[in-house]
Amino acid sequence: MSDREDPDEQEDLDEQPAPPGEGRRPWTPEQAASDSDRPTQPEPTPTEREQEVGLRPVQFGDFVGQADVLHLLDVTLKAAAARREAPDHILLCGPPGLGKTTLARITSNELGTQLHSTSGPSLERPRDLVGILTNLSSGDVLFIDEVHRVPAAVEEYLYTAMEDLAIDFTFNEGPSARAISLSLEPFTLIGATTREGMLTAPFQARFGLKLRLQPYADDELVAILMRSAGLLQVDLAAEAAAILAERSRGTPRVANRHLKRARDLAQVRTRSGRPQIDLEVALECMVSLGVDRHGLEAMDRQILSLLAREPERPIGLKTIAAAVAESEDTIEGVYEPHLLRKGFLSKTARGRLITQAGLEALGEGGDQGAASLFR
Ligand code: ADP
Repeated sequence: MSDREDPDEQEDLDEQPAPPGEGRRPWTPEQAASDSDRPTQPEPTPTEREQEVGLRPVQFGDFVGQADVLHLLDVTLKAAAARREAPDHILLCGPPGLGKTTLARITSNELGTQLHSTSGPSLERPRDLVGILTNLSSGDVLFIDEVHRVPAAVEEYLYTAMEDLAIDFTFNEGPSARAISLSLEPFTLIGATTREGMLTAPFQARFGLKLRLQPYADDELVAILMRSAGLLQVDLAAEAAAILAERSRGTPRVANRHLKRARDLAQVRTRSGRPQIDLEVALECMVSLGVDRHGLEAMDRQILSLLAREPERPIGLKTIAAAVAESEDTIEGVYEPHLLRKGFLSKTARGRLITQAGLEALGEGGDQGAASLFR
């Protein structure tokens, strides 16, 4: 999202975030009005190819797994509907690709209201937020992805917006300045985060419902793959689905990505009719992608190889990130959860260590030999 550059608008609020806990800096209505068309993105934004073919579930019934989360969400939505209120603000936590965005969309579908999407990093300045909030209609859902990356100055404004449905700003400047509070339509904020611990305590406290998504079991991933295969109009054999599922790190996004690559392979192999993904195609696809039977990919192996050089010596996150040329955030949020879940890596106060199971897994797939990737 490109920001309009206007040097006149760069002053005070943008450059000097108010320290948390101190008086929030006021906002001016002129700026809010001129920015109102900026980061507001009424959904849908059908840019992903995935969305074009509609792999993303649009109602509760299509959403596989996460039974506890769905139950809590369902009760919250039904209770709010019975009271004719907007549901409480919701925080969705969990590693990438587990369905946080999907659940936000399903929620707005169920409510029959509009979903407005943005993300923490794109809310650079308070005015970005004011533009979005003042555009919300009654009952709308505001989805903020990577909500842990909302800057502190913007977070301050979110507090009153979430709690009191108001934003404070001033008319005029200097002695004639007059602070007024702009009231907002009732809305539900859905925040998604891969790093729950990075959210400040006061921010977390303003979400009435906190839902933690868990990695999916293999049979759930098989169900997701079968549904996706139907939508992609490809035949997926049960044993092929099992292979793709077990190598998908408990993550639907990864499973769908594997499926699409397997479909490509099947497509070029099939002379006529629907492409067919059988066991052979699935295994070949996994080998060509360098995904072993534990779901480990090249970056996982790089991390484990680094730790395996001196298995007794813990290595800090910073050092790992520098060595494998990846950001600390990505290593912690994307790669480590799977390595930890598999028991291949352990975290200590002094750094990360590879486990015996990790050394064995590395030995199996580390040479990238095709045979070692097959069972
Ligand atoms: P996140 O926001 O947590 O990163 P997404 O909601 O974007 O994850 O989900 C990634 C993709 O995985 C979606 O496009 C959707 O197709 C699929 N997906 C996620 N969760 C489920 C689920 N429970 N059932 C079916 N498909 C899912």
